[in-house]
Amino acid sequence: MDKKPFAKLEEILNGVLKPAAATLSQNPLSNDGPLMLKTVEIMSRNIEEAVDVARNRQKKFVWHEFCLTPELFLAFDLYPFVGETHTSIYARYLQDAIGEFIDATENAGVPPEVCSMDKVLIGAILSDEIPQPDLIVTTSAPCDSSRIGYQVMEKLLDAPMHRLDAPFTNDADAFKYYAGQMRNFIPVLEELSGKKFDIDRLREIVEESNRALEYLLEWDLLRRLRPSPAPPSILLNVYAAVNNCFGKPHCTEYCKALYEFTRERAESGAATGEKIRVVWQHVPPQFGDNIYGWMADEFGAVVVDDTRCGYLRQAPIDTSSLDSMLQGLARHGLNMTMGKNRLPARLYMADFLRARQDYSLDCVIVSAHAGCKHCWPLIGIYRDFARTENIPFLVFDDDFLDSRVVSLATVKNKIEQFFRTMKL
Ligand code: SF4
Repeated sequence: MDKKPFAKLEEILNGVLKPAAATLSQNPLSNDGPLMLKTVEIMSRNIEEAVDVARNRQKKFVWHEFCLTPELFLAFDLYPFVGETHTSIYARYLQDAIGEFIDATENAGVPPEVCSMDKVLIGAILSDEIPQPDLIVTTSAPCDSSRIGYQVMEKLLDAPMHRLDAPFTNDADAFKYYAGQMRNFIPVLEELSGKKFDIDRLREIVEESNRALEYLLEWDLLRRLRPSPAPPSILLNVYAAVNNCFGKPHCTEYCKALYEFTRERAESGAATGEKIRVVWQHVPPQFGDNIYGWMADEFGAVVVDDTRCGYLRQAPIDTSSLDSMLQGLARHGLNMTMGKNRLPARLYMADFLRARQDYSLDCVIVSAHAGCKHCWPLIGIYRDFARTENIPFLVFDDDFLDSRVVSLATVKNKIEQFFRTMKL
């Protein structure tokens, strides 16, 4: 490996995030500026830490897949890194890198129909962007694409890989089953870290992530108010800001700031200009202008919930015993990020129905991601439901990471036509 690992992440840090933070601290640009500054700061901090550990190796670097959360790794003082979360960061701030990584992957023989999330990660490994991990931990969820993707990554990275089997249901037995595998995995982490498992250390970390989640749950309740006081452009960034750092105090501080900022806006009755309430299913385009900000500015269309923020809606974990903590971590991991895509359609749709009630939505937008065989089959079910319930419904195809597949201009055009046609 000739290049320094995370050279492109460092480019984003020094070329985009730090200058943005400097500008926002001088001039907030809008009422949402102070919260946007905190969002940029937490992203910068996370990236700075990733670059530092990748190069200086003061901690063992564990790459874990997105159906696990960081707490168990932190209890062993390992550095947990979620590759998938970072694909959005490359897409947003260095779109050219997305093209480079995907092309490198396809040129190496990976079929184009594999999800771009995995193609970006494989390409980043081929381009020496990803550091050599000390351990990779993956699961059988959420999808066939990540299953094949991780096999390719295992071949490319000379690192041991540990696999967990994910259940297809979301009940107590399912969490117990997954927790049992996490328990079996503890000796692997003991060996890697050279540390004996300390239940009190795990409890401390889980309590820290519980505090962050409590703020996120309060924030979620505020988003249900009509008009919603939550700045829509920030909603697009929250997931990428916090998903890599649950269990760390700075994550809790950010979640607190997010909640307090939104609560103050609700209490002061700040004008939001909300005319249309939108629930966005699947992941919106991560590149170009902030699509949620654009929708709010142009049409008063406020995205009050999306699938990614929905992933963050997790009840805190009971810390009374190791079993309760592992089962809580299993529940979080399996329902965090795209873990819900492992579920049968009826359970997935139950969440959609709940969103309708909770957020008093006016319409639904579904961006069907190329390569995601888990979102495409749901579209007919969504559509039938929306027809029966008379909910305006827009679906279009895109690739949320790669702007070459469907441009942002095309996406904006579809949204504009939808609002006009439906007279929203
Ligand atoms: S978008 Fe779909 S195919 Fe891609 S990683 Fe998520 S669940 Fe898998």
